[in-house]
Amino acid sequence: MRVRLAKTAGFCMGVRRAMEIVLAHANKTKEPIYTYGPLIHNRQVLDMLRSKGIYSVDGLDSLESGTVVVRAHGVPPATRTLIKNSGLKLVDATCPRVAKVQSIIRSQSRNGSPAIIAGDRDHAEVVGLLGYSCTSAYVVSDVKEISSLPQLDKPFLVAQTTHNTVVFREMVSLLKQRYPDITVFDTICEATCERQEEVRLLAASVDAMVVVGGYHSANTKRLAQISRDCGIPTFHVETDADLDREALSRMDVIGVTAGASTPSWMIRNVVKE
Ligand code: SF4
Repeated sequence: MRVRLAKTAGFCMGVRRAMEIVLAHANKTKEPIYTYGPLIHNRQVLDMLRSKGIYSVDGLDSLESGTVVVRAHGVPPATRTLIKNSGLKLVDATCPRVAKVQSIIRSQSRNGSPAIIAGDRDHAEVVGLLGYSCTSAYVVSDVKEISSLPQLDKPFLVAQTTHNTVVFREMVSLLKQRYPDITVFDTICEATCERQEEVRLLAASVDAMVVVGGYHSANTKRLAQISRDCGIPTFHVETDADLDREALSRMDVIGVTAGASTPSWMIRNVVKE
């Protein structure tokens, strides 16, 4: 059996940077560190962070002292103000590429244009982006939702940085028909485009694909869906223990890729197994 590992598998720049920021801070302080939501969607990494005194919280209630880290997804400005006013220290690990989308939304909506965000309504990045809009903002997760948008005057479109590139292109073409005066900002991150493209290419030359990453990780789930859409058997696993050995033993060539929040040691273990 041969295993072909995607070159882009594993941590993206924003996740690596957030990990480095939080670990560097942990080395400097004895006070507790809290991440506003899980730093990344990977159970094993979160266990490792907890062992270093870094805890994930969903709110500020009951926190008396310490540091709150804003993760790569970013937060709405109101949450940032809440953290600042709480007396806790704030460390910002928002990915610069997410921060760029936030600033596009802020500056465009200040001119009165309504925002359309292509993304997952409940994803933390999108919740954060919505907070930057000074006008009405609408989230569309797929092309079917476009017909339910109201009549809009000079809207602008941005994307969640990890949105599906093919779905986004379809959305752009439909939205341009519906709103001829729309301004489009393709804010899907380069790291996302490269990963998705590599999965499509790899899928054409392997018998099955193993996608490594947290079961709650949106970008990992998206990679697995793209692989399935290519028509090959796809196995989404968190660790090597989740591998379906029986099904995989029938394959000659297996492709392996991983989400942007999957650590390299976890990918290595899956490839080795
Ligand atoms: Fe940043 Fe791109 Fe990673 Fe999102 S996918 S955290 S935008 S590098």
